[in-house]
Amino acid sequence: MTARTRPFTAEDHRARMDRAARTAADAGLAGLLVAPGPDMVWLTGYTPPADTERLTMLVLAPGREPVLVVPTLEAPDAEHAVGASALTFRRWTDGTDPYAVTAKLLDHAGRFGISDNAWAMHLLGLQRTLPGTSYASLTDALPMLRAVKDTAEVELLAAAGAAADAAFEEIRAVRFAGRRETEISRDLADLLRGFGHEQVDFTIVASGPNGANPHHEAGDRVVGDGDMVVLDFGGLKDGYGSDTSRTVHVGEPTEEERTVHDLVRAAQEAGVRAVRPGAACQDVDRAARAVIDAAGYGEFFIHRTGHGIGVTTHEPPYMIEGEEQPLVPGMCFSVEPGVYLPGRFGVRIEDIVTVTPDGGRRLNDTTREMVIVE
Ligand code: ZN
Ligand code: ZN
Ligand code: ZN
Repeated sequence: MTARTRPFTAEDHRARMDRAARTAADAGLAGLLVAPGPDMVWLTGYTPPADTERLTMLVLAPGREPVLVVPTLEAPDAEHAVGASALTFRRWTDGTDPYAVTAKLLDHAGRFGISDNAWAMHLLGLQRTLPGTSYASLTDALPMLRAVKDTAEVELLAAAGAAADAAFEEIRAVRFAGRRETEISRDLADLLRGFGHEQVDFTIVASGPNGANPHHEAGDRVVGDGDMVVLDFGGLKDGYGSDTSRTVHVGEPTEEERTVHDLVRAAQEAGVRAVRPGAACQDVDRAARAVIDAAGYGEFFIHRTGHGIGVTTHEPPYMIEGEEQPLVPGMCFSVEPGVYLPGRFGVRIEDIVTVTPDGGRRLNDTTREMVIVE
């Protein structure tokens, strides 16, 4: 699946590459080695036709021209996607050693950040060719590289969120009772695609006791009257992510189901209200968790409160105890507390929120009241 960052120009990408190289230098790195994947898409707009054993690698170093090492047979596609003005293309042809080509670009030695998803064979090839270099995980070294979105990125995330909202407005009208989770999950995926997603990453439908397992995706269980159903769905629209959760109920809920739903809703609201520039990521987690703790359900909220989103649906920053990273305008992340009662039911409510100078702005915003479905 090809992620697109269509609205961005070669100049935009060059600015990102230059900033990444400077950030790497500030972190004490000699440069960055970027493999095909989300970092490469964000930095260059390029996704190779297939991530194969043939080496494609972006080499960034402060004060140097960015270079894309690329197989000769893929070079025309790469030049078309990236734009010839954004960087230098260094082709290598089958039968030659791509690591020797790359090593010439790393003659300044030192420690390099390398993409988490780079193939081990490529890293081993570089280590063999340049025993003097050492390597660090790019995400560990520069966790906030893609975290602060510019205005165009925020609006792409808002458009993805609006598409997810539209999908929810339609799925709440379909029949749930008597159908398998997998069927409703397929409906949800079709709706996301219908509303413009080119990639669906997950459409969780977790009914009744399955809702108490946050990792449940969708199975053969037939949804019945009286079930709580956790819906958690998202993917990429125009290269940027959506990720929304709503919990619906088939028919009239019990008083306890309503109480737990309202509790999670209040926790989610508290988490969103804690979003403001300068607050720490962990403050968002604490604000949501405090509401659930105070009601005596703390032991049933068994995951972090949120994660960043951008050209992927899960990335830094993480809203988790111990994360002291301050919030900065332009950061975008989920706020998604939940309560999971083993063997019974679960509730999760999730919105994507962006940090503005005045606080948090939700990028998806369908009703958070408990929706009754048939
Ligand atoms: Zn029920
Ligand atoms: Zn989600
Ligand atoms: Zn999420």
